[in-house]
Amino acid sequence: MTEEPRRRPILRLKNPPKVIVPGAPPPPSPPPPAHDWKCKPCGAGLSVAAELEDAAEVRCPSCNAKLGTAGDFRADPPPAKLRARPAKR
Ligand SMILES: [Zn+2]
Repeated sequence: MTEEPRRRPILRLKNPPKVIVPGAPPPPSPPPPAHDWKCKPCGAGLSVAAELEDAAEVRCPSCNAKLGTAGDFRADPPPAKLRARPAKR
């Protein structure tokens, strides 16, 4: 009777490193969340790009009202002068 050698457990990485293939297109980034905010004057939905500087002016894409600066949108809680309210997800 021969005894089989015990198999070693296969080790797996919990977070395998991402392999980047040179020349390959970058993986698609997830789509930006749609309509984080609603314009107070007209009710249109809008989102604020993350790459905007805090001092950048944010205008409603629908009625072109000046709603505040990108920094105002990121403040928590939003300042009262902000002319937009958070939209429900
Ligand atoms: Zn508007």
